[in-house]
Amino acid sequence: MDIEGDIRDRDSQLFHADRQKFRNPKSAINRGLVMPKVVFQEERCKGCGLCVLACPKKSIVIGDKLNNQGFTVACLAPDDQCTGCALCAEMCPDVVIEVWK
Ligand code: SF4
Ligand code: SF4
Repeated sequence: MDIEGDIRDRDSQLFHADRQKFRNPKSAINRGLVMPKVVFQEERCKGCGLCVLACPKKSIVIGDKLNNQGFTVACLAPDDQCTGCALCAEMCPDVVIEVWK
C-alpha cells in the first residue's frame, strides 16, 4: 500500500476509535471533549492559500515545509481553534484537505 493509503487507514482507525469513545461525537465536539481532525494530503498542496482565507477561525497557515513539488504547504496553526466546519476542504481546488469529526 502507498504512503497516502497508510495515512488514510491510520486516520480512519483513529476516527473510528474516537467514535467508539463517545456515543454522540457531535455533542462531544461541542463540549470540547473531541477535537475535529484536519488531514492534509501535503503532496497535492500548491500553497495557494485559499484555505487560509476560507477558515473563519484563522486556524490554517502556510508553513515552512516544502513538498516534493517544491511548494510550501498548508497546515494547522499551532494554536488552532478549528471547529470542524470544513470550509477549508470545500475551498481547496486540489482536494488536499479532509475534515473528520
Ligand atoms: S487551498 Fe488546497 S492547495 Fe491551496 S494552500 Fe490550501 S490545501 Fe494547499
Ligand atoms: S474545518 Fe473550519 S475551522 Fe477547521 S481549519 Fe477548516 S475552515 Fe478552519
